[in-house]
Amino acid sequence: MRYEPVIGLEIHAELRTKTKMFCYSPNDPDERHPNINVCPVCMGHPGTLPVINEEAVKKVVKVGLALGGEIPEFSQFDRKNYFYPDLPKGYQISQYKYPLVQGGHLEILGKKIRITRVHLEEDTGRLIHERGPSTGSGRQATLVDFNRAGIPLMELVTEPDLRSGEEVKKFGEELQKILRYIGASDADMEKGQMRVEVNISLRQIANGKSPMADKLGTKVEVKNINSFKFAADAVDYEIKRQAEALDRGEKIVQETRGWNAFEVFRRFCGKASSRAPRTSRSQARQIYKRI
Ligand SMILES: [Zn+2]
Repeated sequence: MRYEPVIGLEIHAELRTKTKMFCYSPNDPDERHPNINVCPVCMGHPGTLPVINEEAVKKVVKVGLALGGEIPEFSQFDRKNYFYPDLPKGYQISQYKYPLVQGGHLEILGKKIRITRVHLEEDTGRLIHERGPSTGSGRQATLVDFNRAGIPLMELVTEPDLRSGEEVKKFGEELQKILRYIGASDADMEKGQMRVEVNISLRQIANGKSPMADKLGTKVEVKNINSFKFAADAVDYEIKRQAEALDRGEKIVQETRGWNAFEVFRRFCGKASSRAPRTSRSQARQIYKRI
């Protein structure tokens, strides 16, 4: 049986701005001391109100123009509610229905990859899993650094137009160049300033034609990839794994996986997982409330 890979990307990039997205705390990715760049707004204290960062909005609009996207006259922020220790407010300010940028495309290897949307949101804090004296007791503990909480974060979503690991790598590299050229982001993947999520499914092809052209296969998500090479490897691994499973007559389970550079491992799969908090974040993804 032959299959055609159908791949879409979600790419997050931290914007290079002087201050955070909704407050005047500095946006300094090189700050090593934890919980220094914080204030009552980004810590979600009662009675505080967000003030929008104009510089961040301009940078996302610039990205949209560079990609030939449409900049709608009306745009809106929404609350994405979920409970997680790296989210001091209990919700993330994001954009759902009315993003800053709609459409656009990026050409790679002579092919147009359509952009669905680019929107603006705020980053979460950073969780550090440690064992040792810094945890107080010397036991395994999770520490939270809120320096990153509230940093302007751009999210770009593509249509499922990519077909291989090579195309995914090329797309990431081209986008990184654009972000750096227009000064929107340093897009340093090693520092986590640019992060890639890949959605992959396979559809059957019979005699060179796709009999189920309109029907996409079951989608598998690979999250938090911090290198274009790893993204390409994860895609190629998933294509092979899914093709072998389909050849055996198995069903592809819709799930989210992580990439550890050696193997795509199952991070969680629905409610059966022991990593329930991650699942609840994913389930909460669709729960939005207008601010
Ligand atoms: Zn702040």
